[in-house]
Amino acid sequence: MAALDGLPPLRDVIQRHGLDARKALGQNFLLDLNLTQKVARTAGSLEGVTVFEVGPGPGGLTRAILALGAKKVIAVERDSRCLPALAEIADHYPGRLEVIEGDALKTDFEAVAPGTPVKIIANLPYNVGTQLLVNWILPKQWPPFWESLTLMFQKEVGERIVATEDDDHYGRLGVLCGWRTNARMAFDVPPQAFTPPPKVTSTVVHLTPNESPIPCSVANLERITHAAFGQRRKMLRQSLKPLGGEALLNKADIDPQRRAETLSVAEFVRLANCL
Ligand code: SAM
Repeated sequence: MAALDGLPPLRDVIQRHGLDARKALGQNFLLDLNLTQKVARTAGSLEGVTVFEVGPGPGGLTRAILALGAKKVIAVERDSRCLPALAEIADHYPGRLEVIEGDALKTDFEAVAPGTPVKIIANLPYNVGTQLLVNWILPKQWPPFWESLTLMFQKEVGERIVATEDDDHYGRLGVLCGWRTNARMAFDVPPQAFTPPPKVTSTVVHLTPNESPIPCSVANLERITHAAFGQRRKMLRQSLKPLGGEALLNKADIDPQRRAETLSVAEFVRLANCL
């Protein structure tokens, strides 16, 4: 049976193009177009919006984004085997899908469609997902080039992204995301929704830029969080010793006996600004 967008079912596409999933490329495909629409809808209205997608694979999420009215999708895919399947989608939606063959980690997203506000939507390959997120939230220029990020991660990574102080998952990622974004977990996706199923539950995280984060040097905040969470069970006077230890903590008006996981994002920023 053909799907609602008139294109063939994804199982047929995968079979016809020989797209057996490769673990090294983090390939866990979503074949249920209702589910891919649910992911795409988490990004809000897509009417007239330019969307960047990382890793379209056979194109399930790409099709949902286009069916929901995106003006254009620019998708970066590393696996050249997927290109013929994606070309069929491009033919079906003339002028609305551009595929860049390459490594998303090496792609300068900001330069791809300069001056155009974009939403980024992706079912990310697990091996590069966190690094891509960090690249998107730590550019020198802020607010960033993107309006929102709607990203599928392993649930444990999602929990680290939205974590705040005194939460077991709180760490460097929670501080960086808490500083520059408003992040929320939208919904979980069980392993059996993917082909092949991964070992763990996944989750969709939606992030929007915090328009006016407390000013702070990215490099200093990275140095502080790296040192503090590198030895998260130790008191800060010990873990931050190489960066000034007790003197630095006193300057920032933070009790040197506290541990990293108890500090709010604002307190980490204060420390970074005292460096
Ligand atoms: N979007 C499809 C879906 O939802 O069914 C596929 C998602 S699958 C989890 C991840 C995709 O990212 C695969 O198509 C894989 O080939 C691609 N990929 C892996 N590493 C990549 C990289 N460094 N740059 C771009 N794409 C990559």
